[in-house]
Amino acid sequence: MSSTACETPVDPMRSALMRRVRQKGTQAEDDVADVLRELGLRFRRNVRTLPGSPDFANKTHHWAIFVNGCFWHRHQGCRRTTTPTRNREFWLAKFAANVKRDGVKARLLRTMGFRVVTIWECETRDLGKVRKRLKPIVDSR
Ligand SMILES: [Zn+2]
Repeated sequence: MSSTACETPVDPMRSALMRRVRQKGTQAEDDVADVLRELGLRFRRNVRTLPGSPDFANKTHHWAIFVNGCFWHRHQGCRRTTTPTRNREFWLAKFAANVKRDGVKARLLRTMGFRVVTIWECETRDLGKVRKRLKPIVDSR
């Protein structure tokens, strides 16, 4: 995916479906992985032994990171967070379920003593912003 994908008014349903087909290893995740390495943070990817299978986690240092697609996970105030006009009720229910699930898994991780950081796909266009968002994890070392 090109870095300008956020700005292009593509059909959100189509692009979201295409994104979903690729279960892991999206460009956004690769970008975050680069920043984590640069910051010297050790991690595992797609940690299925933790609630919600965080995209990145370190069980020893108790942190987990989710890299969320803005459309599916409803990034508030983001231009990618559109709602298809067809089958609107279906989509709204689906999105509500996604957001609820995200909240549940983050809360579970926090009760397990994990620091949880969510990075939105659109934020990965600015890696300086990603570095800032990772500060709580860096500072906890
Ligand atoms: Zn966004």
